[in-house]
Amino acid sequence: MAKALPILSTVAPRRRAPTAEGALGNAPRAPRPEYVPAPLDQRPHADEIAIWLETLRTTSLLELGARAHALRLEKAPPHVSYIVDRNINYSNLCVTDCKFCAFYRRPKDAEAYVLSYEEIGAKIDEAKERGAVQILMQGGHNPYLPLDWYTGLLRYIKEHHPIHVHGFSASEIELISKVTKLPVDDVLLQLHEAGLDSMPGAGAEILVDGVRDIIAPKKIDASRWIEIHEAAHAVGMHTTATMMYGVGEVWEDRLEHMLKLKAAQSRSLARGGGHFTAFIAWSFQPLHTEMEHWNLALGTGMDYLRVTSIGRLLLDNFENVQVSYVTQGPKMAQLALTFGANDFGSLMIEENVVSAAGVDFIMPESEIRRLIEDAGFEPRRRYQDYSFVQDGDEGCPCCLARRQPA
Ligand code: SF4
Repeated sequence: MAKALPILSTVAPRRRAPTAEGALGNAPRAPRPEYVPAPLDQRPHADEIAIWLETLRTTSLLELGARAHALRLEKAPPHVSYIVDRNINYSNLCVTDCKFCAFYRRPKDAEAYVLSYEEIGAKIDEAKERGAVQILMQGGHNPYLPLDWYTGLLRYIKEHHPIHVHGFSASEIELISKVTKLPVDDVLLQLHEAGLDSMPGAGAEILVDGVRDIIAPKKIDASRWIEIHEAAHAVGMHTTATMMYGVGEVWEDRLEHMLKLKAAQSRSLARGGGHFTAFIAWSFQPLHTEMEHWNLALGTGMDYLRVTSIGRLLLDNFENVQVSYVTQGPKMAQLALTFGANDFGSLMIEENVVSAAGVDFIMPESEIRRLIEDAGFEPRRRYQDYSFVQDGDEGCPCCLARRQPA
């Protein structure tokens, strides 16, 4: 059994308001590296990328949106769903130094923290009192936390504060596997058995290594991200898939990213077990990050609607496309509901990662419902598996099913 490193028993959880300097402190800003996109014929899925590039070239945004909306009505119920949850960032200590991240702190930073189990439990209770049906738990790549810390936390949550746990991105899983010296499959199985119910799609950014080498050179590569998600599906967990664009990539990269997700989804659906439940895209938010001074052509509103529409059309083996009102703002998110999206994401009782980059569009539930109704849809609360919350429910259906004896 892996032994906790001393820092765990000696460092009290610390939490302060983020400083204006973000993760970088006073460190000098590195210039933007040159990015040379791979030629089309050297990319995986080159033929399909070419077809989608042609679609983008020849189809107006409104036409794309209309096609995406028609497909959305075919695939998903005519309601717009959302989930009430709380993001709990158990630690901001990270050694991976992604250049787009304003959230993390290096190990010796006075603002680095690890939350205690009790603090996490208190946050869950508070969230449940406000109607939360899940927690999204993510943290930095903290090499001082062994697998036991995570399994202990999950067992503690399930015993004392039961709730659906959607947690730990693929790159966190990889780090746990390295720290614990166990294969990823074993780590995923142990986490699932301890109480991890599903896994978020964070850390995908753009699933093209040429882009990742520039924006997150220490993070897992694209194929490893996909392998870990497929491994999570194989142990029976659903996961989500994300894309953070506007980091200097080209449309070929975005299409390659989506086509890799589509191929992975086909394999998982054929295998049985878990699969990707939703695709969620958002544009990069540069404030307080190392990339703030790179003069990137950041995502625009039209770009977001194009990405949402193409996401729905290309990922035709995904049921759900989620908007990101936290990054795009409520009005753009509302518009995206007629460009292929069918889910408004989560009413986050707490969010720390995007807000560290200066973007904060958190809204009350009444406002989310008003925006959905104003777009012509009936709002419905949902669970992580996209089933709707019904009066008299005894909790998350997937967690209830997991508690039944086999
Ligand atoms: S995105 Fe995650 S892995 Fe990268 S620096 Fe931020 S906290 Fe660390």
